[in-house]
Amino acid sequence: MENKLTEEQYHILREKGTELPFTGKYLQNKKKGKYMCAACGASLFSSETKFDSHCGWPSFFAAEGNVKLKKDVSHGMKRIEVLCKKCDGHLGHVFDDGPKPTGKRFCINSLSLEFNGDKK
Ligand SMILES: [Zn+2]
Repeated sequence: MENKLTEEQYHILREKGTELPFTGKYLQNKKKGKYMCAACGASLFSSETKFDSHCGWPSFFAAEGNVKLKKDVSHGMKRIEVLCKKCDGHLGHVFDDGPKPTGKRFCINSLSLEFNGDKK
């Protein structure tokens, strides 16, 4: 079942849009928990792998199991698109300039994510 998406979320997840840098609600989120797909609720990223990349979007150096990668040559650039494996929702892109141990930087739109904080 799909969650209800706002117009902005729909634009990103279904029409491969990008939110403006430094505007996302999870950019500065330092709480512990899981980041789920805003559309289908699949678990995508953990706060354990979130880092401050200064690129303007929430960044992670590793993904959980529910993401898939796809070559993206739109806008005259060669990039790797990050998608939700369950619902094909567009999440962002992954780059090879991240920190150790993976060297990856998953650059993800806040609007594609739903944060689920650890309950303590
Ligand atoms: Zn999804």
